[in-house]
Amino acid sequence: MQRILTRGEIETLDRTSIVRLILPLPTTFGIRAERLRSLAPDNPIGDYLLLIAALAAAQQSVYEKAPPLAELDELQLAQAQAHGMPPFSARSFHREPQWRAHLEAIGQLLLADTSLSAPIHTLLNELLSELKQAPEQIERQADALLSHDIEHIDAARAPFIMAALQVYWSQLVLTLESKQVPANTPFGLCPCCGSQPVSSSVMLGGPKEQIRYATCSLCASQWHIVRVTCTHCEDTQQVAYHTLEADAGIKAESCGHCQQYRKIFYLDKEQHAEPFADDLASLPLDILMGEEQFYRANNNPYLWQLAQ
Ligand SMILES: [Zn+2]
Ligand SMILES: [Zn+2]
Repeated sequence: MQRILTRGEIETLDRTSIVRLILPLPTTFGIRAERLRSLAPDNPIGDYLLLIAALAAAQQSVYEKAPPLAELDELQLAQAQAHGMPPFSARSFHREPQWRAHLEAIGQLLLADTSLSAPIHTLLNELLSELKQAPEQIERQADALLSHDIEHIDAARAPFIMAALQVYWSQLVLTLESKQVPANTPFGLCPCCGSQPVSSSVMLGGPKEQIRYATCSLCASQWHIVRVTCTHCEDTQQVAYHTLEADAGIKAESCGHCQQYRKIFYLDKEQHAEPFADDLASLPLDILMGEEQFYRANNNPYLWQLAQ
């Protein structure tokens, strides 16, 4: 049995040796695709998980073939350091048109996949044709997604546009070294890009044993958040845990202060849990949380449910 650190012990460690930031692995999309495929059988949304597995596999392929990005802007990095702000803020960073080439490449890979349904092919053909003829419209949709401008998000296209943005932002953050990211950035947002987390995970093994990290919904960086703390509003008094089965490796961490929840994965119980895939595959837990009058703090980037 591994001993679980108490909250006080974790906070003590926090000041000394906890790794604050884990940059994404260059294989992050491939790992996600594999996990989605393994979760699909018998899942109530199994077909959707298989579609997103194909999307994540396309992301991995595009990521691996992507030409390198331009040199980092040293002045911009220095300003981020000086103001404690994420260096590649999703809302304000000037993204290069390269991300649209990623969208085109992801779309083409998926169109070559004959296992995908006719409606998906139609959706992708329309998306790619608009990308060619009116790229400014696609840029506007990307802006809406990155700033959570719910009124202007097209839920059907959103997972594909987000997928291309994820590839681009992962490329960006992988040009960084952890020490180039400011040590103190706004709570609850990714220190690299300022986006919200998709979920959080309590790690297993080595110096990260039993330490909780939130995973960025955009760039997949992971950052430390002390356990039993609301990842949305930082409250520590009214945090509670909900599960569908006893001793589950997947829980919803709710907050009575802000009425929001996010899922938390315990890797000692669910060793292969992946922050995006397992969030998507545990939709029944979202239904339970809805019944208990809690709200998802934000959408999974692969599934946009816009009605609140
Ligand atoms: Zn990020
Ligand atoms: Zn809260």
